[in-house]
Amino acid sequence: MSKKSAKTHSAPTTDPRRLIPRVDELLEIYQHTPTTSINRERALTIAREVQADARAGALGELNPAEPETIATRVREEYAARIAATRPSSLTPVLNATGVIIHTNLGRAPLSRPAQEALIQASGYVDVEMDLDSGRRSSTRGKAASQALVWALGTPAAEDALIVGNGAGALMLAATALCGIGGKIIISRGELIEIGAGFRLPELIEATGVELIEVGATNRTHLADYTKALEQQGATSGSATRTAIFKVHPSNYRVEGFHTEVGLKELRTLADEYAIPLIADVGSGLLHPEPLLPQEPDMASALNHGADLVIASGDKLFGGPQAGLIAGKKSYVHTLRTHPLARAVRVDKLTLAAIEASIYGRDTAPVLQALRTDPEELRQRTEKLAADVGVGEVIEHQGRVGGGGAPEYPLPGWALALPAGLSAPLRQPTTPGTAVVVAREYHGRTLIDLRCIPVEEDAALVGALKNILDKL
Ligand SMILES: *Cc1c(COP(=O)(O)O)cnc(C)c1O
Repeated sequence: MSKKSAKTHSAPTTDPRRLIPRVDELLEIYQHTPTTSINRERALTIAREVQADARAGALGELNPAEPETIATRVREEYAARIAATRPSSLTPVLNATGVIIHTNLGRAPLSRPAQEALIQASGYVDVEMDLDSGRRSSTRGKAASQALVWALGTPAAEDALIVGNGAGALMLAATALCGIGGKIIISRGELIEIGAGFRLPELIEATGVELIEVGATNRTHLADYTKALEQQGATSGSATRTAIFKVHPSNYRVEGFHTEVGLKELRTLADEYAIPLIADVGSGLLHPEPLLPQEPDMASALNHGADLVIASGDKLFGGPQAGLIAGKKSYVHTLRTHPLARAVRVDKLTLAAIEASIYGRDTAPVLQALRTDPEELRQRTEKLAADVGVGEVIEHQGRVGGGGAPEYPLPGWALALPAGLSAPLRQPTTPGTAVVVAREYHGRTLIDLRCIPVEEDAALVGALKNILDKL
């Protein structure tokens, strides 16, 4: 067999596929590319993929009369692919959509202090050790939850707990406070689907807690809650394993004939029956944000009477994925010591990023993007237009996105370029070029600078020129 192939190899009518460099020849290239951080096994897989592509004709026609061309083409393709492959496939992008909390782009970007804290925490850290005594400490996560208490700055935030995400926080609260056979009273106007098929009522029912829906989609009155409690056979001061949940319908709004019951009124009822009142505000604003007057915030929810407030860490709080829980000490304790708390606990990276998001010098990037001065945005966009030498600066509204504040378009600007650029901008062919996610809208490609850090402007210009030069 080997004799035969050796013979065919030297014949002029060689099968061109035999001229494709062997795996060990390609791995030689990998060995001499110290800049790649993928391992040998991954490099081997890529070598086989390039060979298969060459055989299938994907690298162009293989002409047996030009054996060197074939070999060179395959080697170059392999070198390019291993240079472009990183150990993690998640690709950093410039978000030029103007959507601040872009679910498909990982929601909130972390502030620089949070990024640094996260890297520092990635090695060995004293997450469960008291460095004074050298013994195991039982204060895992305490610094991060105390940071949240401090940031909320209200006596009503007696304690806090950080879990894996907002959904995990809801699940833990429902399970620990009510449990199987327990009951949660909630308005029909708040039985929301958040995105990607995640429905809050389904999540709550999956915990074995019974949902008691009250009111109508557009209107719910205090009497609806009272009636539900009475129908459950509860008498004043005696309802057990029952809670009232108030959920912010983050991503839609009811206009017109609409009534909901505020936390202050619900507080009175909850006191009467001695049951917990839980508010899920969704977005994780710590305090009222003047630019988003309809968006609930954690501190106000507590001040208005919620026993516990729940929010996401990676929406308008602007931190890592997490579920933020704050409020009454006794309820936080019930959640923290419930067996399920272990299933939704966060790792040291999240704890570090939460704490640094609160104490770090920089304002959360999501809040910076939200508060961007439209005039500043216009000037930056004019400069971008001048730098790339193409396009028109037009008015363009930014969005909070991520299921938050649907009613607030944010005044701003965008650079309007010819249609169809968003696809090549996502897949630049020149190595080292920034990947840009832009918006196709009404026959144009729009570049909105709201969510792009100023220090990335040069990279953005490079990416745009790279595509425009090819047109
Ligand atoms: C986003 C959201 C959730 C879910 O939070 P995750 O952190 O995505 O799990 C729950 N409730 C409301 C009101 C939300 O807006």
